[in-house]
Amino acid sequence: MTNNLQTMTDKLTAKKDVYTYNPHEPTKRMNIMTKPTGSTCNIDCQYCYYLSKEELLGDKDGCKPVMKDEMLEDYIRTYIEQQNHSEIVFHWQGGEPTLLGVNYFRDVVRLQKKYAPNNVTIENNMQTNGILLNDEWGKFLAKNNFMVGISIDGPEMIHNTYRVNRAGRGTFKQTFAGIKILHKYNINFATLTCVNNLTGDNALEIYRFLRDDVKSKQMQFIPIVEPKSFKTTAPQHWKNEEVIFQGMPEIDPSHPNSVVESWCVSPSQWGKFLCTVFDEWLDNDIGQINVPYFEASIEAWMGRVNPLCTLAPMCGKGLAIEANGDVFSCDHYVYPEYKLGNIKDKTLEDMQFSAGQEKFGRAKEARLPKQCRECEYQFACFGECPKNRFIKTLDGESGLNYLCGGWKQFFSHIDQYIMMIIVSMGYNVHKKINADAMKIKFK
Ligand code: SF4
Ligand code: SF4
Repeated sequence: MTNNLQTMTDKLTAKKDVYTYNPHEPTKRMNIMTKPTGSTCNIDCQYCYYLSKEELLGDKDGCKPVMKDEMLEDYIRTYIEQQNHSEIVFHWQGGEPTLLGVNYFRDVVRLQKKYAPNNVTIENNMQTNGILLNDEWGKFLAKNNFMVGISIDGPEMIHNTYRVNRAGRGTFKQTFAGIKILHKYNINFATLTCVNNLTGDNALEIYRFLRDDVKSKQMQFIPIVEPKSFKTTAPQHWKNEEVIFQGMPEIDPSHPNSVVESWCVSPSQWGKFLCTVFDEWLDNDIGQINVPYFEASIEAWMGRVNPLCTLAPMCGKGLAIEANGDVFSCDHYVYPEYKLGNIKDKTLEDMQFSAGQEKFGRAKEARLPKQCRECEYQFACFGECPKNRFIKTLDGESGLNYLCGGWKQFFSHIDQYIMMIIVSMGYNVHKKINADAMKIKFK
């Protein structure tokens, strides 16, 4: 435990403040989720929030969207030119980006080298279901130092429930074969695990599987929350009748008239899932395995800005770009109402740092209901992601997060342990965002 705490202390001490790269110039940094295949995927996960974008965004002509050569080059050039940071990170997502083949990404790397100035480091992150990974991919990803996010929901039975191909067959074996490729070529990877109505009840089994069998050193857990109207209705555009009060039985995904899809995690499941994983992590793996929610909470309790957009006071720094060049406020806001423009007509810089996008980002805190503003865990939560704020408080105020009960359960469970960890590391506990951190500039 002492050694593990030392590792955690070293990590927190080494952490640079990304907002202060050049004190004489506001930092222009972008983190755009790039979807070069749009929503096209080789599997058909039942809970996927992105497959339905095909219809919503008008890709109805049967052609599979691909970011074409000319646009790809223009995008890579401007993404590099319009940032003034020494480290530029490309995020490749989908749909499934590996459908484009290794040669497409060879071209990506060639273009990045062509346009990156000497003093700038380029990094690439790729999110994949792992199914197409083979030796050719392994060599390419290793050689070019890609960080891979691999989607896996747990052991075979659990993974195969929702992560199925178009014939309805589970995809575990192919994904696990992809993970073996990542190990074979020593590729840096993180696991991304969706917490839904089923996985929500199997926290320990899933965590131990990811740790012991997948040998994941970084585990991201994503709560699956989608209102029934998510395919057509943008967040904050919900109809009145869809917005129900906290505590009503229709919040539960298993209720026949639930406001959310049946495969969603319930607030109490989410809280219990996080608490169970936290206890196991604290007993055995602190400092060895990075669970972003836990490490981010330590930072929040220390008075730092939460590094996770969902739990930070402000969001809006991670745009999404579709294969046709359309740019949206966030990966979770790919709806016509939140389109910022197209890179053929506007610069990335103008869209990322526009007044509208700043307003979008600041609304996260500005629109918190009283219940959140008076919550003892506001400093660690900030009402979580606005896309999940479709519940009314008991006072009848809109804008409460569906997962509120689960977050409260988690934060109150970890409170004393996080304070102990911080004190053991020799830091002070603040339990609130400090004033300087709140003054971070949007750019
Ligand atoms: S909308 Fe949600 S996911 Fe998007 S930046 Fe804001 S908090 Fe993050
Ligand atoms: S725990 Fe609930 S009340 Fe507290 S800030 Fe988060 S969403 Fe709001």
